[in-house]
Amino acid sequence: MGQHLVLAGAGHAHMVTLQNISVLIGKGHRVTAIGPSEHHFYSGMGPGMLGGTYASDEISFNSKKGVEGQGGTFVKDLVVRIDCEKKTVTLQSGTEIGYDVLSCNCGSQVVSSFGYGEIPVYPVKPIENLKNLRQAIKQKKTGEPVCVAVIGGGPSSAEVAGNLIQLFVQDGRPGSKVHLLCRSHFMSGFNEKVRKYCRGYLAKQDVIIAENTGNASLVGREVVLTDGNRIEVDFVVQATGVRPVSLFSDSSMTTGPDGGLAVNEYLQYVNDPSIFGGGDCISFMPQPLSKVGVYAVRQNQVLYSNLVAALDGKGLQTFDPGGEFLLVFNLGCGYGVLQKMGFVFRGKLPFWIKDLIDRRFMKRFQG
Ligand SMILES: Cc1cc2nc3c(=O)[nH]c(=O)nc-3n(C[C@H](O)[C@H](O)[C@H](O)COP(=O)(O)OP(=O)(O)OC[C@H]3O[C@@H](n4cnc5c(N)ncnc54)[C@H](O)[C@@H]3O)c2cc1C
Repeated sequence: MGQHLVLAGAGHAHMVTLQNISVLIGKGHRVTAIGPSEHHFYSGMGPGMLGGTYASDEISFNSKKGVEGQGGTFVKDLVVRIDCEKKTVTLQSGTEIGYDVLSCNCGSQVVSSFGYGEIPVYPVKPIENLKNLRQAIKQKKTGEPVCVAVIGGGPSSAEVAGNLIQLFVQDGRPGSKVHLLCRSHFMSGFNEKVRKYCRGYLAKQDVIIAENTGNASLVGREVVLTDGNRIEVDFVVQATGVRPVSLFSDSSMTTGPDGGLAVNEYLQYVNDPSIFGGGDCISFMPQPLSKVGVYAVRQNQVLYSNLVAALDGKGLQTFDPGGEFLLVFNLGCGYGVLQKMGFVFRGKLPFWIKDLIDRRFMKRFQG
């Protein structure tokens, strides 16, 4: 008998499932996808969109069109609660939707570590915020310099800083400034060469990098650092790390140490065989996984197979996170830094490789 599959979030780990909705419907099942926006943005190309390398429609998926075009239902809303007993999800609008099988790919949100003042603040997630920041900068008077503080010391802050420089160059805004403010050390989780190359390139592009700033706070139009330094800025980008959405703890479900949905080797919720998950919103209990899109992408095929198996009453496949992955940082103006295991190199070629991989990914799933 046909079952109801509900997809909470149309993120990176649901791409293969979303592509196969017509197959599931052909088997007699119903599919409903729920997400707060009709479009989902590919994060790997987000900083490039900020810098102007990509247009927003080149890096986004029309989830609603993709779902409805295959006979599924798309509901534009947020899942705010999961009731495992009743097998329902409650949406922000108050609507309740029942499910037989539920798959969660709701991602992560930026960890907030400072108070808000009068300055517009753009958290790096959702990626739409980078599009909004670009528009806000472009709306400033022609040629007027702009000052942006990027708060956070990880790779997304480095990519955003470099791509802001690209935007200022392309938009003709001499005298503009980017302050990259790291609470502790710049890109501390990466090897020395990666840090040196990223820092060296950004410094050459006149990004002002400050380390050990402590927690920044916003007062009026200024960013105030713990050493008393104050920087007047037009915009703030918040790249202070991410953690899984609070949906699962709000629903009193079992979560891992990072607050993600606790799943086993089958990407299945440890307390309920009818619930699955992938991407940043899960805590993979067999081993901790970094919050990178690479894992969400790798989980696609197993997640889809296991959803089909759960709907059809078949056996589940094990997810193997795989070995070391390739990382390429897009630092703007066609420059990248690539890392794979101990191997690191920089220049135009890494950016070219990243661009090729990212465009291929879009081509595969955008249609
Ligand atoms: C600027 C930036 C650049 C990055 N670059 C890279 C990179 O180059 N390579 C890499 O591997 N990783 C990169 N990452 C990390 C990457 O973004 C994440 O690991 C990836 O987005 C995880 O995919 P996801 O599908 O789990 O989550 P998301 O991409 O966040 O997708 C989750 C989806 O669920 C929706 N959603 C959220 N809450 C709910 C809810 N309550 N109900 C229903 N729907 C909901 C969201 O709208 C979204 O569409 C980058 C991150 C940032 C911030």
